[in-house]
Amino acid sequence: SPGLHVVATPIGNLGDMTRRAVEVLTHADLVLCEDTRVTGKLLSVLGIPKRPLLPYHEHNAEKVRPQILAKLEQGGAVALVSDAGTPLISDPGYRIVREARDEGHKVFTVPGPSALTAALSIAGAPTDRFSFFGFVPKGQGQREKFLGEALSRGETVVVYETGPRLASTLQALGPVPVSICRELTKLHEEVVEGTAAELAGRYAEAPPNGEIVLVIHPTEQAAPDLDEVLAELMADHSVREA
Ligand code: SAM
Repeated sequence: SPGLHVVATPIGNLGDMTRRAVEVLTHADLVLCEDTRVTGKLLSVLGIPKRPLLPYHEHNAEKVRPQILAKLEQGGAVALVSDAGTPLISDPGYRIVREARDEGHKVFTVPGPSALTAALSIAGAPTDRFSFFGFVPKGQGQREKFLGEALSRGETVVVYETGPRLASTLQALGPVPVSICRELTKLHEEVVEGTAAELAGRYAEAPPNGEIVLVIHPTEQAAPDLDEVLAELMADHSVREA
């Protein structure tokens, strides 16, 4: 149907492609993607007939957005995918969704895999509230500020990280419990757990391959002990009385 369809695709295991995603891509008049080779290959292995593919990424978004809006204006069905997972989650798409809405076009979700929710579903960290901070910044100063903010949330924090930088991020986190969720839905899927500091050494020697989601568990805020507080108050009081 006419409108912008935001379509999730697998994060590794092709079996996670949903039937609706196949359906929508099969009938799309235009498919916006990050990399036409990646999406072209996905369509071909899924047996979806060739569709017109248009690269949409941060370097050309400004330029091609009018073209996309014109397609929507003509009543076209436009699909937006990313290389893997859910578009807009640390991936392009926010502005085209915003503008499509502002122009009164329909925007549909075709939900499915995301590394974010996949990691949270198996890390065993509290999920009643959590924060997603996206990619950890590269520079040391920025990274420390970023991680400081993450730790101050007092709730589960999820970040995306790369193998080569994992050890320094863990080092900066210190004695905090983490789950390192690697290669989710793929052959070598694993979750490695421990305190960030103890895992840092291991990964400094052998940086892990593949894709990584780092789940930082909330730590008990050193809650004041009520008995101690009362004892202190009473001590104060008796001093003043005396
Ligand atoms: N929009 C995507 C999503 O919803 O999953 C995320 C895109 S972001 C550019 C790519 C990052 O997601 C990777 O660097 C990695 O941190 C994480 N990621 C993607 N696939 C993964 C997988 N199979 N296992 C672990 N992490 C993955």
